[in-house]
Amino acid sequence: LATNTETLNCHLARFRETGILNLINGETRPAASGATFETLSPVDESVICPVAKGGAEDIDTAAQAAKAAFPAWRDMPALERKKILHRIADLIVERAEEIALCECWDTGQALRFMSKAALRGAENFRFFADKATAARDGQQLQSPTLMNVTTRVPIGPVGVITPWNTPFMLSTWKIAPALAAGCTVVHKPAEFSPLTARILAEIAHEAGLPPGVWNLVNGFGEDAGRALTEHPDIKAIAFVGESKTGSMIMKQGADTLKRVHFELGGKNPVVVFDDADLDRALDAAIFMIYSLNGERCTSSSRLLVQDSIADAFEAKLIERVNSIEVGHPLDPATEVGPLIHKVHFDKVTSYFETAKQDGATIAAGGTRAGGKGWFVRPTLFTHATNDMTIAQEEIFGPVLTAIRFKDEEEALTLANGTQYGLTGYVWTNDLTRALRFTNALEAGMIWVNSENVRHLPTPFGGVKSSGIGRDGGDWSFEFYMEQKHIGFAT
Ligand code: NAD
Repeated sequence: LATNTETLNCHLARFRETGILNLINGETRPAASGATFETLSPVDESVICPVAKGGAEDIDTAAQAAKAAFPAWRDMPALERKKILHRIADLIVERAEEIALCECWDTGQALRFMSKAALRGAENFRFFADKATAARDGQQLQSPTLMNVTTRVPIGPVGVITPWNTPFMLSTWKIAPALAAGCTVVHKPAEFSPLTARILAEIAHEAGLPPGVWNLVNGFGEDAGRALTEHPDIKAIAFVGESKTGSMIMKQGADTLKRVHFELGGKNPVVVFDDADLDRALDAAIFMIYSLNGERCTSSSRLLVQDSIADAFEAKLIERVNSIEVGHPLDPATEVGPLIHKVHFDKVTSYFETAKQDGATIAAGGTRAGGKGWFVRPTLFTHATNDMTIAQEEIFGPVLTAIRFKDEEEALTLANGTQYGLTGYVWTNDLTRALRFTNALEAGMIWVNSENVRHLPTPFGGVKSSGIGRDGGDWSFEFYMEQKHIGFAT
């Protein structure tokens, strides 16, 4: 911990001196208004550094830069773009330790999970870099009088708006395909955790990205974010965040007919049938809600467990939850760090009272941990029913709600019984049941006898209130590009 803290302080020194500034048209700039806000560490509420508080004027300058840079970036040979994107990946790998330490200090995520976040970010760049050369490939369809050619072109300058939970990885996941497609970008990262987005934009410029291709504007959702979604030169918005923010963005973007891609909230079920490998199911259920502080959209926040095994499964779960290590995010032993911010801490802890009022049992946790910082004990609610608030609302913390079911039919009703539909996890050794159940489960992504293991060519996204559109593989290009038809008379 001491070594990590020392290394972190070396990296933070320059931010403490200058603050986090915007990066527009290749230039580091304060907000046009000169305004700043402070980013705080969730560990001890100390000020990390001031951050430029961009607004509509900064967004406009950035959008103009992205518009001006678009034709040259679009027309740059794909092989050249590919090289730059690979160079970004190389530089991310070189600065992986700095990125991981800053991310943990800024977000409260534990280093044991975040140490790989930078490498995953680099992989995102490599994956889309390699796809850049074929992104515009079209097809030729012959009709009686025409030779029909279909091509694909980048949509134009796009806006990317990201949340605070795993900001580095999510930024790369959105921006890499946009650049590979040939779009230029204005990125508005979350106000709670702006550190690594700045490092990432610096890396991109160091890698040789032309000015204006990637612009970074910090600021709050209601002004900088809003201005980005309303800007007429921004052709599409890729957004990751809460469902209710997605709904606002859709309204804000209506006047300029924005194309939107939403990755939103979840209340994802992990369904454990009595014929499953229960030890593996237990490990996965714990990992998917208590890793990354439970601040992860794909977390399995509802445990649906079959009556016949519920007592034994929950008893083991309680034992394991009580032994989870809560502590300083830079301590390699830590499994759960502090929640991002007081606002979020207040939200998560309010559900402890709600659970009691609802009539559920707090079987583990249910309290804050430590006197300072936004630490909570990993929490398990048992004897819950699906109509309770704790079973319906996304808590977005290390909090699991366990609900029992009698049979497959009831499990399916419960699993589908929320507004969300991002992921589902099903544990059974009955293949026929697995096929039947996953076919009827309302979720964009389902894993059977597995935790969430991402494979970049597969589609990522949710149904119902969990999102619109898909990322991954070619799906990312479908969002960032337009199909174009040309018919040649023969
Ligand atoms: P949020 O919706 O509060 O904020 C996300 C971003 O939107 C921030 O940058 C914020 O400044 C901006 N924003 C807020 N209001 C805006 C507005 N009116 N116009 C434009 N931009 C605006 O979300 P959060 O609290 O930062 O993140 C947590 C949420 O993100 C959770 O619901 C979680 O499930 C979701 N999430 C989803 C995925 C996914 O892939 N589905 C991944 C990670 C997080």
